[in-house]
Amino acid sequence: MSQTVQMALDQVRQWIHDAEAQANRPAGAVQLIAVSKTFPGDAIREAYAAGQRAFGENYVQEFASKVAELSDLDIEWHFIGPIQSNKTRIVAEYAHWVHSVDRHKIAERLSTQRPSAMPALNLCIQVNVSGEQSKSGCAPEAVGDLVRQIGLLPNVRVRGLMCIPEPTADQVLLAKRFALLCQLRDTLRTEGFELDTLSMGMSADLALAVGQGATMVRVGTAIFGARDYSQKQTGN
Ligand SMILES: *Cc1c(COP(=O)(O)O)cnc(C)c1O
Repeated sequence: MSQTVQMALDQVRQWIHDAEAQANRPAGAVQLIAVSKTFPGDAIREAYAAGQRAFGENYVQEFASKVAELSDLDIEWHFIGPIQSNKTRIVAEYAHWVHSVDRHKIAERLSTQRPSAMPALNLCIQVNVSGEQSKSGCAPEAVGDLVRQIGLLPNVRVRGLMCIPEPTADQVLLAKRFALLCQLRDTLRTEGFELDTLSMGMSADLALAVGQGATMVRVGTAIFGARDYSQKQTGN
């Protein structure tokens, strides 16, 4: 086994641990999702051998082939990419979590297609915390209604909120985006929704997100290295 994925994972775990301590949060408060999109199954096996169990994928086709290729492993699969409504079935059947739900129609299809023998599919509602610049995610004003409506579906369970802020080096602005997601979640909690999850923070800003209350960070580059999209059809 190559040392590199293991060493990178150790480094990321240390960052998370330090960020938890700095924010006065308990050790283990934050779950690491290893984002393996564009990397081969062997890279996932390496991370798995180093103790990682939760993996995130973005593209339905790639997700389907990795699920098949790695069916001997006990992986917790997180689907984190945009979903077209005609591509929900594989996700409904094999994911444990979907972080990128931003409209009712997708949640409805996921609920319908979730096999009833399986536990409810865990969902996060993706919120567009940056306004115009980013296209995915529901508007902050719409998240309450969406959580309410999706909460009525039988085979999915809304666990929390997710965001991808606009790319920026401005730490103050990023902290503000993460704080907004946290605040939206807290407001929904006071309205009686049991939301325990804030999915926010990636390789470049995970410590900042942990400081603002993230319970899951989605980390790709810092574990697996830079992605090469040239070989790959990224269409879903
Ligand atoms: C690719 C991706 C990540 C990982 O980003 P890195 O910067 O490589 O850590 C996290 N979340 C989502 C939704 C992604 O698409």
